[in-house]
Amino acid sequence: MQKRVLVTGGAGFIGSHLCARLLKQDCEVLCVDNYFTGSRANIEELSGMPGFEMMRHDITFPLYVEVDEIYNLACPASPIHYQFDPVQTIKANVLGAINMLGLAKRLRVRILQASTSEVYGDPHVHPQPESYQGLVNLAGPRACYDEGKRCAETLFYDYRRQHRLTIRVARIFNTYGPHMHPQDGRVVSTFIMQALQNQPITIFGSGAQTRAFCYIDDMIAGLTRLMNCHGDVDAPVNLGNPDEITIVELAKTIVALTNSSSKIVLRPLPADDPRQRCPDISRANDLLHWAPTISLREGLAKTISYFDDLLSNATESKRLVWRSVS
Ligand code: NAD
Ligand code: UDP
Repeated sequence: MQKRVLVTGGAGFIGSHLCARLLKQDCEVLCVDNYFTGSRANIEELSGMPGFEMMRHDITFPLYVEVDEIYNLACPASPIHYQFDPVQTIKANVLGAINMLGLAKRLRVRILQASTSEVYGDPHVHPQPESYQGLVNLAGPRACYDEGKRCAETLFYDYRRQHRLTIRVARIFNTYGPHMHPQDGRVVSTFIMQALQNQPITIFGSGAQTRAFCYIDDMIAGLTRLMNCHGDVDAPVNLGNPDEITIVELAKTIVALTNSSSKIVLRPLPADDPRQRCPDISRANDLLHWAPTISLREGLAKTISYFDDLLSNATESKRLVWRSVS
């Protein structure tokens, strides 16, 4: 019998790729999304497929459906999106987790939570292993997301202990690729949009801060392996690419790959912006035999081609909006 899988946040960047992968694996997919940051365009190719169903719904409200497995991804993920309505971000994380865990409990099905490297805050341990407790400023502008995700994780561990649910918690590090929102303010999408339009590349701070970027196909492989691995996984698993780079280096790489005439400009560093971030993926290696395979240059080339097409096919008024924002 075909597995029927619920993907919350399925019209978003990661969710839309996950839905596509699950359909390829012969699952039926129920995609639930309120379109806050996701879009119909991301799932357009899937909507005609027989196993695919879309439901517009906000997971801060209970959901009554019948499924065999749940991936809980619904939550705005870029700093400008999650800071737009911080209270709603906390609700999406906490009420959303309670509702989806309640659904999993009623159906007795496995549920995976899309957690984040943001649970480590501005880390003092580098690279970050899952055992690191993190350093989050609970009063800062990123706290609605960071603390929301931390509370969601706690709920997952408590539902496992109290209700014997089978859970999976993926701590996702910076991921990029096609279907990112062109105005999400995240560094890869922003720099590519700026470079393709020969606009200034806006580096926040000195650009010495680091991140490690994972291409979407590698991330989807990690998420599905984590969901499907055998046994009781009672701890979080870091998923990300351990290839660390400074933001300045990233900007230069994108300018070179796009043959852009963009110049770099420095802007103030946002509050609580982590100075360094890089995953320790030993646990994912051991448990899932997983490691990223796509290099940054290869992944960036695919992502640049996506944004190039997006710009070529956009109306002039849309291009003007994108230019004014970048
Ligand atoms: P995204 O913003 O593209 O996707 C999130 C999706 O959730 C969107 O389609 C949005 O409309 C939907 N959504 C938001 N609130 C909702 C609600 N209350 N009810 C229903 N749908 C709602 O972001 P993404 O990058 O695809 O991230 C997906 C998940 O992965 C998020 O939970 C995010 O925290 C996590 N994550 C992503 C990254 C990354 O680098 N992309 C890193 C760490 C964690
Ligand atoms: N960043 C930047 N210019 C931009 C957007 C982001 O220099 O136009 C920096 C940002 O300050 C951070 C890094 O790039 O240090 C990654 O930012 P992003 O928002 O993509 O992800 P996160 O901070 O959540 O890792």
